This record gives sequence, C-alpha cells and structure tokens, in this order.
Amino acid sequence: MKILVINAGSSSLKYQLFDMESGDVLVKGLCERIGSGGEITHKRPNSEPYKTEAEFPTHEEALAMVLDLLVSKEYGFIESIDEIDAVGHRIAHGGEKYKQSTPIDDEVIAYLETIVPINPLHGPPAIKGMKACKRLMGNVPQVGVFDTSFYSNMEDFRTIYPIPYELYEQYKIRRYGFHGTSHRYVSAKAAEIVGKPIEELKIVTCHLGNGSSITAVDKGIAIDTSMGFTPQEGVPMGTRSGSIDPTVIPYIMKATNMNADEIEDLLNRKSGLLGVSGISNDNRNVAKAANEGNYRAGLAIKMLINSIKKIVGSYVAELNGIDVLVFTAGIGENDKNLRQKVCADMDFFGIKIDEELNNKGEINISAKDAKVQTLVIPTDEEYMIALDTAKFCKE
Ligand code: ADP
Repeated sequence: MKILVINAGSSSLKYQLFDMESGDVLVKGLCERIGSGGEITHKRPNSEPYKTEAEFPTHEEALAMVLDLLVSKEYGFIESIDEIDAVGHRIAHGGEKYKQSTPIDDEVIAYLETIVPINPLHGPPAIKGMKACKRLMGNVPQVGVFDTSFYSNMEDFRTIYPIPYELYEQYKIRRYGFHGTSHRYVSAKAAEIVGKPIEELKIVTCHLGNGSSITAVDKGIAIDTSMGFTPQEGVPMGTRSGSIDPTVIPYIMKATNMNADEIEDLLNRKSGLLGVSGISNDNRNVAKAANEGNYRAGLAIKMLINSIKKIVGSYVAELNGIDVLVFTAGIGENDKNLRQKVCADMDFFGIKIDEELNNKGEINISAKDAKVQTLVIPTDEEYMIALDTAKFCKE
C-alpha cells in the first residue's frame, strides 16, 4: 500500500510517499514560494536531491508538479498515480469537531472553512491542498489528520480560559493544543520502548523545536498541554514568546502605538530566543553565543530551560508522578546540554539521567537508579499521518 502525505503551508507544500508494507519513505520533497515564483526539492533515498525553479501560482500547480515527478521515469517511484492508495493531510486545527483522523469530504472541508478565523495561517493552505488533491486525483481517498485531535479528551477546566465564559461560547476561545500528532507518535513509541502497554503509563512528552510544546499523557490520553488557543502559549520558542502576563500586550500597544497586527507579529516572529538574545531564533546559534559568554543569549537559554522544567513539574503534579519523560524534535533530540540542564535536580520526581548515555545520544538516557525512564525519541509526524490514513484504506 502506498500513502502520500501532504503538509500544505501558506507558501509551501511538503510531501512524502510511504510504502506501508516496509514503512519506507519512497520519495519526499518540498515546494516553496508558492504564489511568488516557485522552487521544488525532490529527494529519493540514496540519490542526490533534484532541485529546480518552477512556476506555482497556486497550491494546485505545485501538487500537479509533484504528481508529475512521482510518475516520471527519471525522478519518480511509481508508474501511475493510481498506485497511490490514499492521501493523508496534516491539518493543524480540527476545531471542536474532529476528535480523530477523518476521511475528507465536502462536509469536512465546509467545517474547516468555518473555523478559518481561529486558524488563519494554516487553515486556508490546508483547504487548498485538499481541494487540489480532489481535482487532480479524483476518487483517491483522502484523510485529514488533525494536530488538535489528540487533545479532544482534555477536560473543560484545562481548556477554558479564566475570562468571561461568553467569549468561549461566542468565539470558541479556549485551549486546543497543537503538535498532537508528534506527541501521540512519541508517547506510543515510548510505551513500545519501555515494553509496557500505554494504558499503564503516565508520560510527559517534550516536543522542543522551532515551535515547542509539552504534553501530559495519561494512559495514552493527552490530559494537558502547554499550547493553547494558538501555538503561542507555553514555553518560549524560536521567535514566539510563549506565555507572558497578558497585560503586557495592551501596555506595549499603548506605549508604542502598535496595532493588533503589529503586536501579533512582535509576539510571533520577534520574540522567544530571537527576541531575548537579539542573535538568532536558532537554538544552536543562541547556545553557541551563550557558551561564549553573551549575556542575553545565556539569559534566553536559561529562560527556556526554566520554562520547560516548570511545565514538566506541573504535569508531574497533575499526573501524581510519571513513568516516562520524552524529549523529541530538533532541540529535544539533539541538544544534550539542554536535556541535562532540564533534568538536573529533578531527582525528587524520580527523574535522573546518566551523563554518559545522554552524551552518547542513546534512546534511553535514564540513570540506573531513576524511577522515571527518560527517553530521546525522534518524532515522525508524517509516518503517524500515513499510519492513520492507511486505516481508512481497503486492503
Ligand atoms: P521545526 O519546529 O521547524 O520542525 P525542528 O524540530 O527542526 O524545528 O527544530 C529546530 C531547532 O532544533 C532549532 O532551534 C535548532 O537550532 C535546534 N537544533 C537542531 N540540531 C541541534 C543541535 N545539534 N543542537 C542544538 N540544537 C539543535
């Protein structure tokens, strides 16, 4: 069975073609600058990437080029588009309706259109991607996999903000959570690695990348998470502030005459590691500058570590202790110093890592006498999307 996974962004479209029998990625690639030119990078395993300029006025032209490449003699892997059994779409927001991955039909698209106001960045390109697939691939089944659906069992006292309840009723302002596909994937992997059913485990998963979120998973169900109404809440990120005192926002607006778009831009694209360090949004650059003694870079890294510790600690409290702590994504998988600092002085919680295992980049980095298993697990959201999609395909 072959599944095509699509992740459409505002001016980009990422794709991966999976062979589900082997779990292998057959080809993958990225279309960039959709709407303002175009460029495609198309990779097959063990061969040089094929990169070329193109003309993509819309997502549909980009997808058409992807499909042409997939069946091309030189760069493809299949003879005909009919060999693709289904398409899985990454959809950032499923609103309150989609509690699990769902086959896409006109009704799903119509609902997603109604929630564009709460998902303005990712909603429109995802909808374009789905419509383009339908036009170009006819009746090939399409499945939506929602980042928010992993959080659909979160209880109301964890999702409703302490602001007038009418704002939830009227505008659906509440906490939704994001990165759910990644947290779902690594929590399931963690259970496999420790060799216990997920139903017997309490797990905290730390997805630390350009965007970062932390999730508390009880018996396989996400009970709390650090991102909220948008992916802005929680730990400081590459360019996002994470949680701050909300009154700072109108204060800045009044003091500097900023309008709503400008303050949103400041909080989304000029804050976090970049805003504090003044150097970069990239953790590697900030950590390097911190090691060289740059005060603001050091401050940014300390803030990040402290914020992760506080959220992990609060989830240990909510779960009454945990069995497994997971690090994933760019920073979580690669930054051993950050992992070491987050886990330092957490032995009260049973969290203790082995320095050598951590430095060597092992999967299980727990100290021998630790009660909590601390694991480093590479995330694979695309494979999770492919697995969900495959469930809706007939053999
Ligand atoms: P995205 O959220 O865009 O998918 P990633 O999960 O790829 O991001 O994470 C990107 C982050 O991971 C960057 O801040 C980068 O600096 C960090 N990172 C990647 N490799 C390392 C490394 N070896 N050491 C420290 N940080 C790293």
